[in-house]
Amino acid sequence: MSGLMEIDSKYEGVIQDARKLADSVEPYAMEADESSELYQPILDALRASGLSALMVPSQYGGWFDTVDPLAVCLVREKLMRSSSHLDSLFALQGIGSYAISVAGTESQKEEWLPLVSKAEALAALALTEPRAGSDLKGIETVVDQKGAELILRGEKSFISNAGAASFYTTLAKEGDGYSLFLVPADSDGLETSPSPEIIAPHVLGELKFNDVVLPQSARLGEPGTAFRNVLATLSVFRISVAGAALGVMTGAIEEAVKHCTQREQFGRSLIKHGPVATLLADSWSDLESSRFLTYQTASLAIDDPAKNLDKSSLAKLTATEAACRVVDRCVQTMGRWGLIRGSKIEKYYRQARPMRVYEGASEILRLGIANGMVEEFSDGS
Ligand SMILES: Cc1cc2nc3c(=O)[nH]c(=O)nc-3n(C[C@H](O)[C@H](O)[C@H](O)COP(=O)(O)OP(=O)(O)OC[C@H]3O[C@@H](n4cnc5c(N)ncnc54)[C@H](O)[C@@H]3O)c2cc1C
Repeated sequence: MSGLMEIDSKYEGVIQDARKLADSVEPYAMEADESSELYQPILDALRASGLSALMVPSQYGGWFDTVDPLAVCLVREKLMRSSSHLDSLFALQGIGSYAISVAGTESQKEEWLPLVSKAEALAALALTEPRAGSDLKGIETVVDQKGAELILRGEKSFISNAGAASFYTTLAKEGDGYSLFLVPADSDGLETSPSPEIIAPHVLGELKFNDVVLPQSARLGEPGTAFRNVLATLSVFRISVAGAALGVMTGAIEEAVKHCTQREQFGRSLIKHGPVATLLADSWSDLESSRFLTYQTASLAIDDPAKNLDKSSLAKLTATEAACRVVDRCVQTMGRWGLIRGSKIEKYYRQARPMRVYEGASEILRLGIANGMVEEFSDGS
């Protein structure tokens, strides 16, 4: 399934490599996607593909001069269709390391980014806490100065890659402001434990920072600049969740079309029955309109990600809400075969749902989008 939109030829190699990687993990994708712990063959396949190089600037072993949001979307679309475990590992390499790329010192970049680009170091971004989710200004993790050192204390919750990551880009309160810290996974006083298992298993864990001692050089960027760098990360990667949602929709529609052309009821294939055809056609319409918005928004974000954050939110909202509608319709067209545990369609049904919660829950995105509308719709043009 190629979609209706033409893509610049500079992405051909990326798309081909992503397709090859996605195909290569198919034999064990179902098993990997049921695992809440790192599934080693998936990591090996990601490493062998070289695609993690998309997540860092070329100066540090990356593919393009800077991280290209459209390339990331195109890859996530292919990977997610095969395996959410693979998609998540790939995405986290960028989500967890982007603050280093944009705000790190030369020595932080040199230490970590070449390893991230080869997936030899796994990255994580630790923002959420037991009492702070959407409202990140409510975090309780703090950093205090003690002589020349920093002491980090607090808890993080539902952190992707926790337990598997090599470092955690961690949000903490520092004085009156908020800063990001690069915390190596082997730091003394850092404990990890699994989070509750979710409906679509994911490598997720809880972090405890028990007076972790960090050098001043662990801070990412100037003190008090955390939210600027978190927003920079979201500007590039929120749109990529829309890319992953395209993969879920594509996979679900493929399953439904296959079933509805093969199965007959009342003397003709299901796809020839008007109501079933409507469910399928509406699903393709949702997929292609989401695809246009996603690719277009990701292209705009290449030059100025921050300026396009509202549009990235719009694309993420549109594509993830569409993915849930599409998968639900596809399940319906498949009757009882849409409900079988361990089938691909059932997997997509579960995988679509968390996408409306992470990297900005739909309601929070709508608040930001509505604020952006004031400027967008008030110049009369
Ligand atoms: C699979 C998965 C992976 C994750 N990975 C990471 C990770 O790697 N790093 C990390 O830091 N976090 C991660 N998270 C956590 C995720 O970022 C949070 O779940 C998300 O920010 C929402 O926070 P919450 O779950 O606490 O919901 P809450 O903030 O408690 O929100 C609950 C509901 O209320 C709504 N709501 C809240 N405030 C408002 C408001 N002002 N107006 C309207 N509606 C509102 C929300 O939209 C939501 O529907 C992950 C979560 C999942 C499910």
